[in-house]
Amino acid sequence: MVLVGANREIHAAAIAAGYRLIMRGKPVARRADELDASQWWSQSRVLALQWEKLERLLEHAYRQVPYYRQAMLERDLTPADIRTPADFAKLPILTKALINEHQADLFAANADRAKVIRTASGGSTGVPVTVYHDPAFVAAYQAVKLRNFGWAGWRPGRAWVRLWGSQFDVKPHQVLKQRVWDKATRVRVMPCFDMTEATMAVYAADLMQNPPDVIEAYVTPMYHFARFLEERRITGIRPRGIICSAEMLFDHQRATIQRVFGCKVYNRYGGREMGDIAHECPEGGFHINAENYFVEFVRDGRPAAPGEPGDILLTALDLYSFPLLRYRVEDVGSPADGLCACGRGLPLMRMVEGRVQDILTLPGGRYLPGEFFPHLFKDFDMAQFQVVQETLDHLTVRMVRGPRLTGDQIAYLTQRIHEYTGGTVTVDIEFVESIPATASGKFRYTISHVPPDFSRTREPAGV
Ligand SMILES: [Zn+2]
Repeated sequence: MVLVGANREIHAAAIAAGYRLIMRGKPVARRADELDASQWWSQSRVLALQWEKLERLLEHAYRQVPYYRQAMLERDLTPADIRTPADFAKLPILTKALINEHQADLFAANADRAKVIRTASGGSTGVPVTVYHDPAFVAAYQAVKLRNFGWAGWRPGRAWVRLWGSQFDVKPHQVLKQRVWDKATRVRVMPCFDMTEATMAVYAADLMQNPPDVIEAYVTPMYHFARFLEERRITGIRPRGIICSAEMLFDHQRATIQRVFGCKVYNRYGGREMGDIAHECPEGGFHINAENYFVEFVRDGRPAAPGEPGDILLTALDLYSFPLLRYRVEDVGSPADGLCACGRGLPLMRMVEGRVQDILTLPGGRYLPGEFFPHLFKDFDMAQFQVVQETLDHLTVRMVRGPRLTGDQIAYLTQRIHEYTGGTVTVDIEFVESIPATASGKFRYTISHVPPDFSRTREPAGV
């Protein structure tokens, strides 16, 4: 449907009214309103709220969560002793291995187990981890997303597009919930695990015909898509903003995407297990969503100074059923001093090192983003993995196998890989004791030695 002039305005007003109706009275809407207001508070007021929420969470963790109660008792601490960030740093760091090992003790005794939502993540270093969310956390998580979408130009009720991974084997009730949310927020998903030159051409035509306010995407597929459009001289896709996430965003990638789509690229830092931690504002400040998260940057056991790289530790302030305090997400960032020109009081940070992914170039003009593998593997028992594409038609999957990973599961995973790589790629699975980091010290879980080449196979473009 192509709308022009006044028609478009009436349509937009109707959509906005419909959106308000759908969202009315929902916890996420209430929370989104609060977050819209608090972003403009002074930084000291934001930090005071953040600390107050942290104290409340600590009190709860001490009373209700066996893992934290024991951690505090062992250190001779009660919540009342934790008065400053330095006191808080006396609590142990929570690693992925510890989460997987102490699942039962991390649940709050008063958690409503019927309502918790199991969330697995492929992790940023090829180490899968499973956490549990609850409805209050989900409302907070979604509300902060809506706020950040607003920064990128999204208006309530308007469409947005996700160039994103598909879900494997989700339960029907979760699919339904997701559909309702997608409908309410008017999101269209363009699966990036099924990227061929033909599907990219279809996505391009759709984006031109039904322009969304915002496109949300993994960095590598978005960059790949931009290069495809440029190569094919397809122009005229003009969203208001593009949000890139889940990987490091390099300057050359940002420049290409901005040139092709004619809008600003907004960097976002977050993950499935915690939600959106930080997001770029229109002025380019990388703001921490500080009402929802307490973020530490630790270097050699002490807080990193502004501008100094440190290990990122995250505390989710709204997650009570399965509290995550000082979660070591295995990314590197630094705190940044000062205030942003936009006037928001939310503190600033910088990413130093995050996930770096390659995209696999496959026979027949197919492409598969590196995110496919953590997405596929996250529910299976493996301590670590790495995928290496040596040639166009050969992949090696290395796994540090966990004791609960069965032969049937390996067969299932192999079959799924075949399905998504087009069937003609040979896949070797190797079980290894450990997987070393790259020479730079950074772990990469998808490495391809076959660069994308849009002239290798020409399929009918359709536009
Ligand atoms: Zn700002």
